[in-house]
Amino acid sequence: MAVGRHTTSIPRRITQSVILCAFLVLFITTTYRGGTEIHYPINLFFQADPLAAAGTMLASRTLNAFFLPVLLVLLATLLLGRFFCGWFCPMGALLDTFRPLMKPVDVKKVPSRNLKYYLLFLLLVTAAFSINLVGIFDPISILIRSLTLSVYPLLSAAAFAVFDQLYYWDIPGVTAASEAVYGVLRETVLPFRQGFFLLSTTSLVLFGAILFAEKIRPRFWCRYLCPLGALLSLFAGVSLLRRRPTGLCPDCAECNDVCETGAFDDDGNFLKGECILTMSCVRSCEKKRAAYTVGFPPRASAPSLVRRHVVTSLVAGLALSPLLLIHPKRKLKESLGIDAVIRPPGAREEPLFLSRCVKCGECMMVCPTGGLQPDLVRGGLEGMYSPILVPRIGYCEYHCTLCGQVCPTGAIEKLSVAEKLETVIGMAYIDTNRCLPYAHGINCMVCEEHCPTADKAIKFREPIGETSADGSQLKQPYVINNLCVGCGICENKCPVGGSGAIIVTSEKAKY
Ligand code: SF4
Ligand code: SF4
Repeated sequence: MAVGRHTTSIPRRITQSVILCAFLVLFITTTYRGGTEIHYPINLFFQADPLAAAGTMLASRTLNAFFLPVLLVLLATLLLGRFFCGWFCPMGALLDTFRPLMKPVDVKKVPSRNLKYYLLFLLLVTAAFSINLVGIFDPISILIRSLTLSVYPLLSAAAFAVFDQLYYWDIPGVTAASEAVYGVLRETVLPFRQGFFLLSTTSLVLFGAILFAEKIRPRFWCRYLCPLGALLSLFAGVSLLRRRPTGLCPDCAECNDVCETGAFDDDGNFLKGECILTMSCVRSCEKKRAAYTVGFPPRASAPSLVRRHVVTSLVAGLALSPLLLIHPKRKLKESLGIDAVIRPPGAREEPLFLSRCVKCGECMMVCPTGGLQPDLVRGGLEGMYSPILVPRIGYCEYHCTLCGQVCPTGAIEKLSVAEKLETVIGMAYIDTNRCLPYAHGINCMVCEEHCPTADKAIKFREPIGETSADGSQLKQPYVINNLCVGCGICENKCPVGGSGAIIVTSEKAKY
């Protein structure tokens, strides 16, 4: 049964456009816009992501019902092949949208397309040892993270700058119009607050590299690097949908030229796992030879992997595991029982948290104060891009539960407001060498005023018999450990320059 001849690129383009629009709309609805609930988070895309599912469930050794739709994706891949990459992947859709805007460059030497399989094996082996690095390379994670940490903040900063300038110039007619446009954009696409993120440059560079690699080969990322593509490719290798003929015709090699992923090897054999079902070959074949047919039993087509390289990737995965175990954060945990970093409220115990976190950055996207930031390596290599609270940048809003609402994998538990109020994420300390009342004899009550707990976790020793610079009784603040929840607002608001005279650490009250 021939099924390919009637397919045109229009349905695919429409599907990709719909997916990309849905992705961007969900991205915007997930960003913090002043509400207390996120109804349509972008994490829905992870439900169709077999790599995130495999990495998270392998590393955490738990089944996760959130990923059930992944079974449908795998089933459809067994029937049709790598349709997800060609039709539904938002990263693929973005690359196909950007490529026509770029002038190709002639680069002869490219990596082996097997590189993505080796990367996949390495990630799965490390996940089997409870180390989840999948999110660093997963395309859905990369896309959400890049938009969150760099692209969206960059675009919004540019937009705010333009509107501010127009407002400042106050040009008759123009400024009134720009303010009207600004009002609409503020309600729809502009963020509630300007985002500032650590690692924004790194994220932008990596994202830009993925986009600009399209100049070298169409779908460069998908051909050579994407581990999700590699996983789907292994399933697609035994799919029921077959291409006819099974190689390039000796009198014509047009198919290879029009194929977005160049799904033919050096000998002209068709590589089923590389085909992303764009059907370009069917449409462009003037001799009407190329077609897709459904056949049973499936004709298996495995990638021609180099055994030596497979072994290297497996060994590298094995070697990484003990290497990550000797990170200094382990010593901190074992000798003092404390975590190296402050995690969001509702975060699971550190090892389980890291085994589940896919580094998507959604929690950072929704954090109303911008306090959740991507970690570099303070939490270990497996913690790269995972969320940490940096109180000097932003604090944990006392009644906010948004990060747990959007976390796709349950790395951060969904908390009720009542549970959140009881959740302790760290503890504050006063640096008496820098605190104004202690070090300079000047009264200051900023931290006490901002402390949100019902019974203030910061109180004053008074009277101490000394007078402040303004002539009033000097009052010195101190922290009551078992009332402090570690929200960090005191450190955030402390007027002392640099790191603040009150500092919140990841230690939790024991006394
Ligand atoms: S903890 Fe944050 S970064 Fe990690 S998976 Fe959950 S939402 Fe994404
Ligand atoms: S971190 Fe600071 S503001 Fe937050 S509860 Fe503790 S003392 Fe209060």
